[in-house]
Amino acid sequence: MSKLKISEIFFSLQGEGPLIGYPTLFIRLFGCNLNCSWCDTPYAKGNNPHKEVEISEILSFWEKNFNSLPFITITGGEPLIQNPVYNLMNAFLEKNCIVVLETNGSISLNRVPKEVIKVMDVKTPSSNMDRHNLYENFKFLGKKDAVKFVIKDEKDFEFSLDIIDKFFLTYYTQVFLSPAHPFLDPKNLAEWILKTKKPLRFQIQLHKVVGIK
Ligand code: SF4
Repeated sequence: MSKLKISEIFFSLQGEGPLIGYPTLFIRLFGCNLNCSWCDTPYAKGNNPHKEVEISEILSFWEKNFNSLPFITITGGEPLIQNPVYNLMNAFLEKNCIVVLETNGSISLNRVPKEVIKVMDVKTPSSNMDRHNLYENFKFLGKKDAVKFVIKDEKDFEFSLDIIDKFFLTYYTQVFLSPAHPFLDPKNLAEWILKTKKPLRFQIQLHKVVGIK
C-alpha cells in the first residue's frame, strides 16, 4: 500500500451531511489546492504540522480501536489531491465500512468508488474560490450524496439558488446550506430558505452546537 499525508485522525459525531449525528472516525488528509477566504481548517494545509502514515497503519488503528463502528469520514484539506486516497477508500469499503468523502468540488470525482458517499462543496463567491467549481462533478452524485453550500451573505445565497435551479440539484441529490461561521447569523439563512419554499436543507454544524471537536 502507500503513504498519505495526514493532518489528524479523531473520533467524534459527524456534524453535517447525510450521516449527521453518527459516531464517526475522521481521517483528515493534509493539504489543499484552494485558499478559501473563510477556511475553517487552515491547520490542515500550508506549512502546518502533519504526518506521513501508511494506509495499513490507518486500517490497523481502526481495527484495534473502532471495528464495531462502520462510519469513516475522509476529509481535509482536500483529500483528492493525494493519489493514495483511492486505496484508502477502497480499503475501508472492503472492510464493509460506510465511507464518506468530503471534497471541495474542484477535482473530478470520476475515480471515487460509487459506494462512497460524496459530500461535495460548491464554493460560493465569498470564498473567492468559486471559479474553481467543477460543475461536471454533479453527474457523479446521486440520492445518497450531497452538495454543500457555505453561505456568508445574501449574494452567496442568490448564487447558490441559481446553481441549484440551473443544475436541478434537488431532483437527484441532497442539498445542504450552512451559514459561514461566525459571519452569518444562522437565523437569517433559515429565513431565506423558508422564503424559497424549496426542498433545501438548512444545516448547522452539530459538533459546534454540542461543543465537541
Ligand atoms: S477547500 Fe476547505 S480546506 Fe481548502 S481552503 Fe477551502 S475551506 Fe480550507
